[in-house]
Amino acid sequence: MQGMMMHIPLRIIEILRYAAEAHPGAGIVSVRTEGDIHRETYAEAYQRAAQLAHGLAGIGIAPGDRVATLAWNGYRHFELYYAVSGMGAVCHTINPRLSAEQMLYIIQHAGDRALCVDLTFVPLIEALAEHLPDGLRLILMTDRAHMPESKVDFLCYEELLDGQSTDYDWPVMDENDAAALCYTSGTTGNPKGALYSHRSTVLHAMQLALTIPRSLHEGARILPVVPMFHVNSWGLPYAAPIVGASLVMPGGKLDGASLWDLMEAEQVTASWGVPTVWLGLRAEIGTRGQAPAALDQVVIGGSAAPRSMIEGFEKLGIDVCHAWGMTEMSPVGTHGQLSASMDGLDLKEKIDRKCKQGRRIFGVDLKIVDEHGARLPHDGKAVGELYVRGNAIISGYFNNPEASEAAMDAEGWFGTGDVASIDPHGFLYIQDRAKDLIKSGGEWISSIDLENIAMAHPKVANCAVIALPHPKWDERPLLVVVPKEDKPTLGEIHDMMLEHFAKWQLPDDMVFVDELPLTATGKVSKLTLRERFADHVLPDAG
Ligand code: ADP
Repeated sequence: MQGMMMHIPLRIIEILRYAAEAHPGAGIVSVRTEGDIHRETYAEAYQRAAQLAHGLAGIGIAPGDRVATLAWNGYRHFELYYAVSGMGAVCHTINPRLSAEQMLYIIQHAGDRALCVDLTFVPLIEALAEHLPDGLRLILMTDRAHMPESKVDFLCYEELLDGQSTDYDWPVMDENDAAALCYTSGTTGNPKGALYSHRSTVLHAMQLALTIPRSLHEGARILPVVPMFHVNSWGLPYAAPIVGASLVMPGGKLDGASLWDLMEAEQVTASWGVPTVWLGLRAEIGTRGQAPAALDQVVIGGSAAPRSMIEGFEKLGIDVCHAWGMTEMSPVGTHGQLSASMDGLDLKEKIDRKCKQGRRIFGVDLKIVDEHGARLPHDGKAVGELYVRGNAIISGYFNNPEASEAAMDAEGWFGTGDVASIDPHGFLYIQDRAKDLIKSGGEWISSIDLENIAMAHPKVANCAVIALPHPKWDERPLLVVVPKEDKPTLGEIHDMMLEHFAKWQLPDDMVFVDELPLTATGKVSKLTLRERFADHVLPDAG
């Protein structure tokens, strides 16, 4: 017997229509590429999204077309999210930190019809111009006054909106229709596309809003450092309008000082980003002697949050929520908010818990399996490959049958490529990416665990641990350190590590670098490090 309830397809545009009505005072503050600060309410954004949809329809964009963006976090990018999906087209966010070759590959692969570009990226587009597909419409996200002289024929974003109606008859499409497209950063092989639907996006936004209320609540002011070109800014542009939180968009200025100033000026209450950006903010807090006054929570994800970072924020009274996820998961899979039953824990115990990646969010299922695919217990001890299933997780990659088949297991779960344990409280603990684990003499060493301890050393500014080949043990760990003023000795690091590790797990050697190479999504690129130190000979491996 069927229930007798209305079936109204979930649509992304409904989020903004709701926010415009229910949270008229909330909205978006943006540091513009033009150099000033811009403010608009969700009500204004909804009207401008309608104007934009008319403008895009006017240049021939139709339902199902892919409209790409190459842009920082800002209100025009936000308007594109809603206008493009609202009119039934697909918003394809491109990561400007990809190589030119990868960028051209995904523009071709996605079959983009238009590309909307921030002023910053004009030189990049000029350099790529002759390789761009014929017929790709280029739109510069600025007004007439800021349109530069260029050999490229850009349309002007504000002119597309000028004079258009602020009402748009948003089509009612199937909720499973595609709405947004984001390619993984492709550290191995070509980038692969995660094609989100209206349904998955709305559900994920609601799941987030339920899960991380300390960031996401009415009146909150959230600064997404995580870019809108990296998995939809972890869902914030969709979740914030639902709850009535405002978004403070930093544009391209993501250094510690710029973030500190913006947080202070805009009374930011929460901020989300990868660990590398928090290194910059923490250094700035140290220099100024205080944290931005209203900052109450940071959400750290994308790579493991080091213990010293979590401790540093918590001691300032700033709550850390350690989250884990993937592009393929929309992206959030788990969150490190402690459960109410953990209120009585002391600070050290709380931080122990927060170093883990936390519990699954509603709508995401987790399993860990051994090398034969058999399920392992959630006892906090068994370590296996992590698989996930849920409403906002890909069922395959866009136009890529081989990669799709390789990614899914026989039961239809998606293989994350991460190796993890899950404890009886449901807390996930990511040991490593399978390809970053160090396999020494038949045992595994977690590079993340070693990094965590080394990061706490007062002479270490940043570090990474990679595997190097070894004739006897297969692989052994090499510690790569960005030192502060003084360089630590390997002995000093070993002394710290010995409190937590067996002797055989300690790094065999240490090298110094000025900075760590980053991937397009701001994470430490271990692939680049492995290449750079491929010829490094470990002390007893000669
Ligand atoms: P890519 O780096 O290829 O763009 P994603 O940004 O989707 O891919 O990153 C997903 C991966 O990042 C996860 O599979 C995991 O290895 C890593 N990751 C994400 N969050 C965390 C975390 N909190 N702790 C450890 N690893 C994490």
